Amino acid sequence: MSLFTIAVHGGAGTIRKEDMSPDMELAYKQGLQEALDAGYAVLSAKGAALDAVMAAVVSLEDNILFNAGRGSVFGKDGKHEMDAAIMDGTNLAAGAVAAVTSVRNPVKLARAIMTESPHVMLSGAGALEFAKLRGLQLEDEQYFYSAFRYEQWQQIQGTDQTALDHDVKLADASVSKAVGEKKFGTVGAVATDQFGNIAAATSTGGMTNKQWGRIGDSPIIGAGTYANNRTCAISCTGHGEPFIRAVTAYDVSCLMEYKGLTLEQAMQVVVHDKLMKIDGEGGMIGVDANGHAAMVFNSEGMYRGVRNSNGLNNVLIYQGS
Ligand code: ASP
Repeated sequence: MSLFTIAVHGGAGTIRKEDMSPDMELAYKQGLQEALDAGYAVLSAKGAALDAVMAAVVSLEDNILFNAGRGSVFGKDGKHEMDAAIMDGTNLAAGAVAAVTSVRNPVKLARAIMTESPHVMLSGAGALEFAKLRGLQLEDEQYFYSAFRYEQWQQIQGTDQTALDHDVKLADASVSKAVGEKKFGTVGAVATDQFGNIAAATSTGGMTNKQWGRIGDSPIIGAGTYANNRTCAISCTGHGEPFIRAVTAYDVSCLMEYKGLTLEQAMQVVVHDKLMKIDGEGGMIGVDANGHAAMVFNSEGMYRGVRNSNGLNNVLIYQGS
């Protein structure tokens, strides 16, 4: 039996301890721990990495604290359009959904697209139609409503600004403060199972006040999500546009495959060098087939956690803690 590992993230950005109440900190950490435990339960029962990442991401999608599924942010038109992807490192099978509405768990839809359609990605109305045909659970607008995200959107509604769910880097300082006080984010999971197989999944509501139809990095295979048993499984979070341009997740895999870097080394190069050069703020979690995990970010914080069969169990928010 090889070392098995699950890692999760709940978004990256300007997350500062001084802005966080002890209750909120606890709530985030509990949410991350629940997701880790959901994934770990699958792995310890000899389940597949693919099932583990799905269980972890479903747990985060159902948690209103995080910007995915239920807690998705408001777009420019006041609607919630969600993106998600899942990838199996054993055979490079992948499924993704973009700009879909009403689906309770977009990661389940991504998986259904992977296993029950000849396609990799479906978007918008077609994705919703596919979800209905497959009997996936749908929810009304009220399910996706949260007062704090509505207020967050109100701060920049009517402007052309978009914001990472937890970012403060907006032009207007008062807007920055208002948006920055809300610190929630995109979610993702990566896992190595007992058989040395790996998988990745990512799910998001995208960026607050985003343009109708805007698609971020999360559902794009190779940008926000990637898994290949030969190298790594990666799930990213951050400002999606630079992550797409840098083909971020696949670049980590390439550095490992073609340059012989370790997982951690490759992630460091991509996050602290390549992304920084194009103002790509955010981070990523990764595992390799030996169960090694790494969590690297260039923002002030990243909600994250890792648990493995050697007894490691860490949930962190800020740099180093
Ligand atoms: N990467 C996501 C996007 O651009 C946002 C995030 O990670 O919070 O849609």
